[in-house]
Order: sequence, then structure tokens, then C-alpha cells
Amino acid sequence: MHMARKDDRIVNAMTIDVEDYFHVSVFDGLVPRHAWGSMESRVCANTERLLELFDEVEISATFFILGWVAERFPRLVRQIAAAGHEIASHGSEHRLVYDMTPAAFRADVRRSKDLLESAASCPVHGYRAPSYSVTPRSLWALDVLMDEGFLYDSSIFPIHHDRYGIPVSPRHPYVLTRDAASIVEAPGSTVKWGPFNLPVGGGGYFRILPYGWTRWGIRRLNELERLPAIFYLHPWEIDPDQPRLSAGRLSRFRHYRNLEKTEDRLRALVREFRFSTMMSLLQDQIRETRADVAAAPLPYVW
Ligand SMILES: [Zn+2]
Repeated sequence: MHMARKDDRIVNAMTIDVEDYFHVSVFDGLVPRHAWGSMESRVCANTERLLELFDEVEISATFFILGWVAERFPRLVRQIAAAGHEIASHGSEHRLVYDMTPAAFRADVRRSKDLLESAASCPVHGYRAPSYSVTPRSLWALDVLMDEGFLYDSSIFPIHHDRYGIPVSPRHPYVLTRDAASIVEAPGSTVKWGPFNLPVGGGGYFRILPYGWTRWGIRRLNELERLPAIFYLHPWEIDPDQPRLSAGRLSRFRHYRNLEKTEDRLRALVREFRFSTMMSLLQDQIRETRADVAAAPLPYVW
């Protein structure tokens, strides 16, 4: 007789930063913002392939979508929401938070939230900064996010990196309290190795290093620490046919390495581990932060 076994594996978050190949920060300056509109856009086709994969393995994910993308392709935003995924914000213009003034940041996130909510007809609760650019000099961004009605942020990476990171910040999702309010912070995933936090949660680390690295890291998090991983990827990372930009050697390595292998790896990953949305992962902590949220059920059941 077949007995159904309860799946007691930890649920991780699957997140996609929806932007085009020419938006990424390592290419900053190569394709100026005023020229974005004239570039060949591949974000819809690549995101649709991710939607097919997630449909195939029946997982819901969180899509942090750039306002720039939502404005040009509102149909894509609707399509993602209609497939049962969570819509979240990646800002409007892919500007690094620490390069903006608080007022400019507020305008940027507000605009992205408006564009996404009107395209998807559902509320946006989460934000992730371009290139994890909430660092010690841009922590004020969290106050702006709380003020603009965001319930969680996923912009702090507890590592040393040339462009981002707060190495001493917590490695797991937590309630972060500032002067007047709180927000749930869901940092990029790391494993602890001696004095270092090593990133294991996706992007370049998933694509450039062997798959065994990510598998080892997520297993260690899930089984040893009983912590969820917050995994992230970009649609362009499964697109080996994207036009090549003439960047420096390090940027080219970071961006183009193993593009042809990443979709198969992702397929292996989602079969091996459990995944869902950020909101389903964080809902208990979010209830702690907001009396108004605690009083009423969350608008979604993921
Ligand atoms: Zn980005």
C-alpha cells in the first residue's frame, strides 16, 4: 500500500528580478538610460520561459519587477499575476539606492509600485533594491519603504562585496525596527564559514560556480540551520542568445558565463528543493510588524 509521506522539507523563497540584459549594474554607463528604449528587449520571452518552468513544477514565486518593464510591458505583469505569482518592486529606473537622495528614492519606488499595482490590479508589498544597494549609508531607504506602505524588504546582503553588503547584519529573515515603525527584512542567503558569510542564494553564484555549490549551501541552510534560502535569478540569466555588450573582461565574465547551462540548473534546483513566494515565507513576521495587518487577514493566501 502506498502511504503519502508528509513533506517536511523547509520552504525556500524563489525570487526573480525582472529586468533586461542591458539594465544590470555591471553594465552601467554602457547603455545609458535614454537609450534603453532603443535596445532589443528580451525580458518578456525570457520571463515567459521561467513562467512555463514554474508551471511545470507547480511552484509560486515572487517577481521583483522593474517599473521600466511594467510601464512598457503591462501585459507581462498581468500574465505573472494571473499565473498565481507574487508581484513585487525592483524600483523604477534601476538606480542604486546609495546614489539617490531620499526624495529621489521615494519617487522611484512610489512610481514602480503605482505602475505594478495598476498593471496587476493587486497590492505590492515587497521591494528589492537594484544590486542589493541598501548598505550602511542608505539605511534611510527602509524608513521610506515603511512610509510608502511596503511590508518587507529584501535588499541587504550580509556579505563583503565590492558594490554592496552589510557583513554584520542577520543572515535570516527578521523584523527590523527603526524609529517609528518596523519592516521585515529578508536578506540574501549565505552560509557561515568561519568568520565569513558566503553567498549561496543565486544570481552569479548560482550561474558561475558549479551547481554543487548551491545544492550544498541550501542543504546546509535547510537541514542544519532549519533556515529558508532566499533564491534569486534574472530572466537574462537563462538567455544564451542575448546580444553581447562590449564591457570590460570582469563584467563580461560575470554576465555571460554559463548562460547556456542555467535553465537546466534551475530545473534541477526546483525539483530538489521546495519553493514558494516571499509573502508565504514571511507572513508570520509581517503580522508581528503591523497592528493593522495583524487585525485582518493578509490580502493574499499564497
Ligand atoms: Zn536588478
